[in-house]
Amino acid sequence: MVIKEAKFLMSNTRVDQCPVADKPEYAFIGRSNVGKSSLINMLTEQKGLAKTSSSPGKTQLINHFLINNEWYLVDLPGYGYAKVSKGSRDDWRKMINFYFQKRENLTCVFVLIDSRHDPMKTDLDFINLLGNIGVPFVIVFTKTDKQSGTKTDSTIAAYARKLRESWDELPRMFKTSAVDREGRADILNFIEEVNEQLKNQPEE
Ligand code: GDP
Repeated sequence: MVIKEAKFLMSNTRVDQCPVADKPEYAFIGRSNVGKSSLINMLTEQKGLAKTSSSPGKTQLINHFLINNEWYLVDLPGYGYAKVSKGSRDDWRKMINFYFQKRENLTCVFVLIDSRHDPMKTDLDFINLLGNIGVPFVIVFTKTDKQSGTKTDSTIAAYARKLRESWDELPRMFKTSAVDREGRADILNFIEEVNEQLKNQPEE
């Protein structure tokens, strides 16, 4: 897919104020500092489109971007901030659960995981939550340029082992680097394919 246009639409704290749900929506989420903003900027080829690392304690926003006037890219607030209060964590959980359950055009969630680290409980819990509520998702391993391919593959294998403990099928997985642009074509082609499938589905 060629990105012809990527523009910021709006930020919300409320799901019912998000843009009209008339286009397929792809949401990006992950632990703070995982490289989410860098990945979104790399995919859209716009340096400052997603703002890097908002600090904990700041309002947690659902950010909508419109891509090629065809699909929504959503930057969801991250999890795993060490210093966040229980109250903010609960607010985040409520908002995210509501978004997953109510956003009817949500097509796929991209769960970002730092490819350098062994499986972490917060990430596994989050993946299991998505599986349990039946939201389609894929996993994106970020920052692959920071280490050898062998190390990245061993992180991926460790996640696969952990997930097989609970699930028969593994989600699709992507390796990415915002520095050397690894994974850009794979992710954009995946989105294009899903968009095409949706277009060819008979109307309900
Ligand atoms: P966010 O908090 O998830 O939005 O993460 P950011 O995109 O702000 O990235 C956090 C830090 O990791 C920043 O210092 C980025 O420059 C760095 N970073 C993000 N992606 C990559 C990557 O693919 N490779 C390398 N080497 N650094 C990255």
